Parts: sequence; C-alpha cells; structure tokens
Amino acid sequence: MRKPSEDEQLLERALSAADRTRVVRVERGVRRQATEVFEQLFGPTPAAIVADANTFAAAGRDVVDSFRRAGHPCPEPLVFDQPDLHADYPHVEAIGRYLASGDAVAVAVGSGTINDMTKLASHHCGRPYLCVATAASMDGYTAFGASITREGSKQTFECPAPVAVLADLEVIEAAPEGMNASGYADLLAKIAAGADWLAADALGVESIDPTGWQMMHGRLRAWIADPNGIRQGDRRAVHGLIQGLLVSGLAMQWTKTSRVASGADHQFSHLWDMQNHVHNGRAPSHGFKVGIGTLASSALYEQILPLALENLDAGRLAAEWPELSAIEADIENRFDRPELRAKALEETRAKYVDGAAIRDQLQRLRTVWPELRCRLREHLLPFDELAERLKAAGCASMPKQIGIAPVRLREAYRQAYYIRRRFTVLDLARHIQFFEPALAQIFGPRGRWPIEAPGRGVDEGGGF
Ligand SMILES: [Zn+2]
Repeated sequence: MRKPSEDEQLLERALSAADRTRVVRVERGVRRQATEVFEQLFGPTPAAIVADANTFAAAGRDVVDSFRRAGHPCPEPLVFDQPDLHADYPHVEAIGRYLASGDAVAVAVGSGTINDMTKLASHHCGRPYLCVATAASMDGYTAFGASITREGSKQTFECPAPVAVLADLEVIEAAPEGMNASGYADLLAKIAAGADWLAADALGVESIDPTGWQMMHGRLRAWIADPNGIRQGDRRAVHGLIQGLLVSGLAMQWTKTSRVASGADHQFSHLWDMQNHVHNGRAPSHGFKVGIGTLASSALYEQILPLALENLDAGRLAAEWPELSAIEADIENRFDRPELRAKALEETRAKYVDGAAIRDQLQRLRTVWPELRCRLREHLLPFDELAERLKAAGCASMPKQIGIAPVRLREAYRQAYYIRRRFTVLDLARHIQFFEPALAQIFGPRGRWPIEAPGRGVDEGGGF
C-alpha cells in the first residue's frame, strides 16, 4: 500500500480533531462516489442535490446519476439558474422549503455560495449535509458558519460544518477562471493572519493554540509555493491548494474560532462586504478582497517592524490614550451606514481597554518586542513577494483591480480597525499610537499606494 503523503497525513490528523466533519476525500472523480460515502453516513435516507446551473453541469449531474444508478432515493435536484447567484437569505429559505418537503439530507454541489446556503438551510432543518466541492475558491467548506446576505448586509450565521466533503480534483482543476486564484489568496492570507496571532499571543491578548497553529502553518509554505501552477491549473498546485483550504476549515473547527485563518487581512474584506462594495457591477470574490487585505496588513507590518518598540515610553503613550467617548465620536463620523456604525460601536466597546491596561500592555510589549519582532520577520513574507505571488496566481494584486482607490483603502484601515474586536496589526499600530504616521507613509509619495493630491477627498480626516 502507498505511504500517505505529508498532506494526507496532516489532513487525516486535522480530520480526527474535527468535531463535525467525519469524511474528507480529495481525489479525481470522487463525485461519482458520492453515493457510497452518503450511504455509509446516512444509510437509506434520500439525498437531495442542491447546485447552480454551472456546478450542476460540472459535477451535479454525475452525482445525481451515481445515486440513481445505485437505486438510492434522490428527489428532483434543486438547481438555481440565476446567472449571477449570491448567497442571499431568500435562497436559504428556498433550500429550507425544498428539504422540509421530505426527509432528505442535502448534498451541496458547488463552492462558497451553494455550500454556505445549504449549510444554513440544513441547520435550520436540524439535518446534517454533505458537500461536493467544485472549486478551490475559499476555506469555508469544512468551517462552521455561513456567510449570507440578509436585508442588504452580509452576516455570518452560526451553523455546523458538513459531515463530509468530497473534493473532486477533476472538477476543481477545470474550475472557471479566477475561482482557484481566489482560494489561493484566501490561503496566502493565513500568513498575515498568523502574524496577528503571534502578536496577540505575545501581548497576552489571545494565546496560540499549538494544535491549530500546527495544522494551519505546518504545510502552509508548501501549499502556497506555486502560484503560477494555480493559474495554469497544474495538478499538484491545485491539489495542494484544496488540501490547504480544507485543513484551514478543519483548524477552525478544532479551535472553534476563525482566528487561526483570519486577521486584519479578512477585516478589510468584511468591511467591503458590509459596504456592499461592487466593481464593474459585481462584488469582487472573497479571495481577491482578502488578497488586497493581506497586502494592506503587510504594508502596516512593514512600517512597524523597524521601530525600536523595546524603548517605547509606556507611561506617555498611556497618558495620551483616548477615552472611549472620543473613539465613539470618531466612529460616528466615520460610518454613514447605521448598521455598520452600530457594529463598529459594539466591537470597539468590546475591545476597548483603559489607559492603565494600555500601559501594562505596552510595558509587556517593550519586553517581548525583540523576540516578537524576530518571530514576525521569520513568519511574514515581504510585501513585494506577496504582491508577486498574487499576480502570478491570477489574483488582484493592486487595490484598483477590485475598485478600491488609495484614498478609500486608507479610510478602510481606519474603519477595519473598528469593525472587529479581534486583536490584529491594526490594534498593535493603534496601541503604540503609530497608526496615522504609518498611514501617512503607506499613502505618501514614496509609499505603497501614493495618494496623488493630499488634502483632497472626503475622508481626509485622520483618526487617532
Ligand atoms: Zn477567507
């Protein structure tokens, strides 16, 4: 018998740590074995296939055929035929009605949208589900929670991960252009997310879970090593990518938080989701937004790492630390959408610490900085290399490619800080009161994204 590869061993270990997902199979042609896996897990329960027109053509039809050939009960599939399908709540309700009309367990055949909608609908019906992944486009297959737009705003709903995921390499290698690139950017972001976790851990804000860390970072460098291969649909590169994305979701199942897979990089993307950002009439893919968020995070690290924080004046900085009321006033000015403002206030209040706590944290930072800085330098990839890899994989590597002008990106730093309580490089920069000076560099004439005419533009006002 062939010895399992390092990736297969890691996937096996990640799977044994997961509390919900029992089976993950990454193989060529595995869509045709859906019945076998389904019967092992759910016996003779009917299988209800949910897909869209594209994923039905790419894999869904074969999945249906495999059930019908085996004589397994399989009602007429639910196939969404909208050309530009989004994860909207009414569709979740439609899947819920479809499932509630019988006692079937759903088989989601698709990528992020179909999987997330089926995940939530199955949860509403109190049923497990199985997923046949059709693209290496994001890490949500094996993760808990679903990202769904309800009443105009994108929200994350709590719901369990699928019991099984079948990733068919034949289908994934041939995924529509940009989909695997999106997954590559989502995986590359784990570098930035890891740096944020290192910082949070060193400052005593949120400890690193060694098992989760090992799952996510043990093979990450290998998975992201061949961006050109992703663009060309190379077998090995795409195989590594889907393995990495599946393990990432399993690591989130294990740690019960998305910390392991998401830091400031994702906060930029979430912000643009909440602002319903569209470019050329469409929402840019999750991965493309996260890729730009990763560059934004990296540009900020690049400003902070040269600082001699072991010498910072904790007492002075603590004395200058703003009161919560001043921060709340800044939030009021910075967000025009009421639901976004409410979210920013809630998250910021949850993470606000007073001057005394800031002083303690900064004193700790003085002590840990020499070692933390070394670890961050070792861990991070340089900005230029990240940008090159994104470009090579076929992702957006410049903000304008997703319709974000430099002036808006600068404002996104300020807003992204407020929308989540998670400690990231944004918090690190704020705590050392280097946030605005860093932005002045990043968007200055010699910065990463120069703003042509400083002093112009509606969001010129600096924050803290
Ligand atoms: Zn992601």
